[in-house]
Amino acid sequence: MSRVYNFSAGPAALPEEVLKQAQEEMLDWRGSGMSVMEMSHRGKEFMSIAEQAESDLRELMAIPDNYKVLFLQGGASGQFAMIPLNLRKKGVFNYLNTGSWSKKAIAEAKRYGEVNIAGATPDGEFTVPAQDSLSIDASGDYLHYTPNETIQGIEFPYIPECGDMPLIADFSSTILSRPVDVSKYGIIYAGAQKNIGPAGLTVVIIREDLIADDAGDAPTMMTYKTHAGSDSMYNTPPTYGWYLAGLVFDWLKRNGGLTAMAEVNERKAKALYQAIDQSGFYNNPVDPNCRSWMNVPFTLANAELDATFLAEAGEAGLKTLKGHRSVGGMRASIYNAMPEAGVQALIEFMADFEKRNG
Ligand SMILES: *Cc1c(COP(=O)(O)O)cnc(C)c1O
Repeated sequence: MSRVYNFSAGPAALPEEVLKQAQEEMLDWRGSGMSVMEMSHRGKEFMSIAEQAESDLRELMAIPDNYKVLFLQGGASGQFAMIPLNLRKKGVFNYLNTGSWSKKAIAEAKRYGEVNIAGATPDGEFTVPAQDSLSIDASGDYLHYTPNETIQGIEFPYIPECGDMPLIADFSSTILSRPVDVSKYGIIYAGAQKNIGPAGLTVVIIREDLIADDAGDAPTMMTYKTHAGSDSMYNTPPTYGWYLAGLVFDWLKRNGGLTAMAEVNERKAKALYQAIDQSGFYNNPVDPNCRSWMNVPFTLANAELDATFLAEAGEAGLKTLKGHRSVGGMRASIYNAMPEAGVQALIEFMADFEKRNG
């Protein structure tokens, strides 16, 4: 068996140690005689798995006690609807529009109220609006933004300031990449398939005062109160994804937590951007102040070489480097599970390819 370096944006690579542990525990989870997949979500074995995962995530992210952690389904895209449905009071929502995922969140929010675009990245630019340029509607129910735009590879270098208004963030592609001050946020949410675990699980970290007692006509399954009031067991949760997320949290703790992760992630990103910037052949269009640590898009000087680049990279064991169809070129997603050796292998391949084709 040989494993490749998988640069997929999501579902993305998982730590090999985690996969091996899951493999060892597949048929008989710790003497239970069952796979985690086969367990009742209300049985004591799964309850212990669920509680351990939550407590490890709380420890890793230093989540304050007045926040609930929810393990849901429906993806980050489901949150695009749940947020306005549950938080609307005045029905005015502030959004920052910095890329493809912001746009999708905005389109969904418009179905439930009026959206004020409090700041935006102009078309064709690769940056984020400055804090002092934001025009936040003070009557808004919240301010929503996307700290890391997975497709454009743009990342906020600052946490937007919005006073007492709840700040809501789609952390799908940057959660767990470094420490974050959770107390600055009303809600942090993320689809699991980038930096947490397998697809099918969505993690929501929500300040308790934002869990409305009455979410109007929102469907029961789309109401935070439903899930917060039942420890995410109102219906059958995605048990296997929850378990695997727990194994990832444990792996992160064993490897020094988010401070250690941040050091490695910063080194990986710096090395790759440096290789791109120093070549006359590769280009990354993003303002250096807001370059993503997790998703690195780049183009070749000659787009006719894209297919050859991808084919040869694939033969060298470097997979899933094709850029998003809306941006073109390449994209290397280098989440927590991508080892530094994988990034080094990519850099060496790129240099060699440039030598032969540049
Ligand atoms: C992948 C991604 C999404 C979509 O997540 P789903 O779980 O597929 O709904 C939303 N926002 C960001 C920033 C993403 O990277």
